[in-house]
Amino acid sequence: MATKKFNKKEFIREVKANVKALYRKNLEEATQQQLFQAVSYAVKDEIIENWLATQEQYEKDDPKYVYYMSMEFLMGRALGNNMINLTIYDDVKEALEEIGLDINVIEDQEPDAALGNGGLGRLAACFLDSLATLGYPAYGCGIRYRYGMFKQKIEDGYQVEVPDNWLKDGNPFELRRPEYAKEVKFGGYVRVEYDEKTGRNYYKQEGYQSVRAVPYDFPIVGYNNNIVNTLRIWDAEAISEFQLDSFDKGDYRKAVEQENLARNIVEVLYPNDNHYAGKELRLKQQYFFISASVQEAVAKYKKNHDDIRKFYEKATFQLNDTHPTVAVAELMRILLDEEGLTWDEAWEVTSKTCAYTNHTIMAEALEKWPIELFSRLLPRVYQIIEEINRRFVAQIEAKYPGDFEKVRKMAIIFDGQVKMAHLAIAAGYSVNGVAQLHTEILKHQELKDFYEMMPEKFNNKTNGITQRRFLLHGNPLLASWITDHIGDEWITDLPQLSKLKVYVDDPKAQQEFMNIKYQNKVRLAKYIQEHNGIEVDPRSIFDVQVKRLHEYKRQLLNILHVMYLYNQIKDHPEMDFYPRTFIFGAKAAAGYRRAKLTIKLINSVADVINNDASIKNKLKVVFIEDYRVSNAEWIFAAADVSEQISTASKEASGTGNMKFMLNGAPTLGTMDGANVEIVEEVGKENAFIFGLSADEVINYEQNGGYHPENIFNSDQDIRRVLMQLINGEYAPDDPERFREIYDSLLNTKSSDRADTYFILADFRSYADAQKRVEEAYRDEAGWAKMAMLNTACSGKFTSDRTIQQYVDEIWHLKKETVKVK
Ligand code: PLP
Repeated sequence: MATKKFNKKEFIREVKANVKALYRKNLEEATQQQLFQAVSYAVKDEIIENWLATQEQYEKDDPKYVYYMSMEFLMGRALGNNMINLTIYDDVKEALEEIGLDINVIEDQEPDAALGNGGLGRLAACFLDSLATLGYPAYGCGIRYRYGMFKQKIEDGYQVEVPDNWLKDGNPFELRRPEYAKEVKFGGYVRVEYDEKTGRNYYKQEGYQSVRAVPYDFPIVGYNNNIVNTLRIWDAEAISEFQLDSFDKGDYRKAVEQENLARNIVEVLYPNDNHYAGKELRLKQQYFFISASVQEAVAKYKKNHDDIRKFYEKATFQLNDTHPTVAVAELMRILLDEEGLTWDEAWEVTSKTCAYTNHTIMAEALEKWPIELFSRLLPRVYQIIEEINRRFVAQIEAKYPGDFEKVRKMAIIFDGQVKMAHLAIAAGYSVNGVAQLHTEILKHQELKDFYEMMPEKFNNKTNGITQRRFLLHGNPLLASWITDHIGDEWITDLPQLSKLKVYVDDPKAQQEFMNIKYQNKVRLAKYIQEHNGIEVDPRSIFDVQVKRLHEYKRQLLNILHVMYLYNQIKDHPEMDFYPRTFIFGAKAAAGYRRAKLTIKLINSVADVINNDASIKNKLKVVFIEDYRVSNAEWIFAAADVSEQISTASKEASGTGNMKFMLNGAPTLGTMDGANVEIVEEVGKENAFIFGLSADEVINYEQNGGYHPENIFNSDQDIRRVLMQLINGEYAPDDPERFREIYDSLLNTKSSDRADTYFILADFRSYADAQKRVEEAYRDEAGWAKMAMLNTACSGKFTSDRTIQQYVDEIWHLKKETVKVK
């Protein structure tokens, strides 16, 4: 299965030719961006043969495909990853050096494809990498947003959102596929016609507006196996080609409306993470890409198959959260209205095709659409959901006669709303959570009624990450050290890392491992110096919390603890304190006021501390602007401590936690999400665990009894830190600035329960855990061993394992192999 040999001369020739053809320039005249484009086209050429060969092989074998349907794919940069997976990274590096180009500078020209918010979107990207690497036929289905996740600037300590015009220089890896364009219809009404011959009603949507969905294909390169799968993301264009006649009839207004609909629909990714906003345009986006993807999946099937009732034998839809759940109704619509199946036939196909992944239990994230909006926008789809609901409610009533409470809690349509999770569960053949703890909470708390009625649907698939991007590409020094010690099989078989365990007590290996960590810290320190103008000492402990800014993730707990440490150092200047650099990176949703205020607080604390010469650089606080996949790779590689401090029960899994572990950073965290499994793998003694358990949190939430004001009154250190939120210590120009945060912890105004996320409850045990971190770090050999054990025990968290479990237990796909001629 050897891949084609890289031809350096040919590659250089091609880069030069590309610069000429694309820009009419010689190499020397081209800008770095132009060089990036030229190199990318040359790499794309290396991909194309494999892409064709893969499609050919799939055509021949007629395999079952998984359609991974997701509103988000947080792909990051493609060039470096493609070179890694083609196993030509070092060859290209050498070739570029020969013509005076620096591969790092070239890679740095590429904008991140940031078509996602955070964990959920990045999970989808890791899954595509694993699917291709393991050789499973798959399509990613999504939206080609013109503007992805906003770029974050920090001005005067505040987050400012800047549009992410990622396509402005063109995207060298994508292919436009107009031949697969589809029409997607919105609005209008449904006309019912009775056909005497067949004795059936036929439903026709009329008076609608429509848009043309045009797919762009993105190659997903498997690691060293010739396989190239496809991420298919849809762009919207005006429908004019389909319906020129509306102009002919002088229906100019309608034509303009369709033009506007097309322009708006894929304009921008909603920047909300774990939060439902209920915007009409968002529902349009959902239906737009789902309708196009389902139509395409059916069309592809029908090319080679006559019996649509067997569709599920060749296709399965994995719904990444509830965002794509309208696929259930869209598939029903196509089967009923276009393929002429009966309801029961269509339902059998649909309920054997769709599977649902739940990503959260937080109430504010659950999608519920008002029926007024839903039925106006998608009249026929809504009718179908009503019928699904009618039948589902009948099933509930049959199983629990007279128990109206069950219907109230489980119906798909209730209280004037369409509940997307209920639809996904009722229709799906599989419902999975994303970490053991999360799945248990789903089964026994949040989705208890559904679990009791249909236990066979529920299963766990603990998330994972791809080591190709987050170790091989992101941390080349550690990657080659590992390969030197245990060979390179870990690249596609991560549990091999456990072979490193024999080195964890070896002083030489310890020193090498920590020296690599040091060099990665120097690399990050340079980045921080360049981007923040802050000098940080790579010998200090790099204590890192990078993830979306969310109250449940508790960046606030972290910064309040920094304020507490600063008080300690000021009070006891002689105190023996190991220098610490607290590094934050986090985007807040544009409309999330309290999250944005927390960013301001972090930056305000940073300003005071970083400019206080009296503490002699013992403490530094850095907020890295615009946290995204590309800088994440460097940040994980440089971290000493991984902050995973969510309120227990709130973080479904987390995947950042796994990336830190892989790169040798012990977890400082709560028993939440996949942290539980990380600790299970590495041992409690190689992590720093603190705080309330999920059961304790849930118990407080259900039964009350939590009183943060008692903690405030009895713990003078905590009290002092909270008072500093309102005495102008960090806001001399406006002492009231952080009042909202203070109030949220002590509930002096709002009617919500105070300190919703149990920050004061966990503060002391967090501070104690931090103390343990410091003590452990002083023991150089002990720390090296702990860091190495984290890497060595991270094998479980590869997305290759996760995908294999999806394949074995849900999708039942067959592995493909592809040879190139
Ligand atoms: N954002 C980016 C850019 C990431 O790389 C990750 C890592 O998984 C996440 C968000 C999710 O982080 P977490 O699991 O810590 O929320």
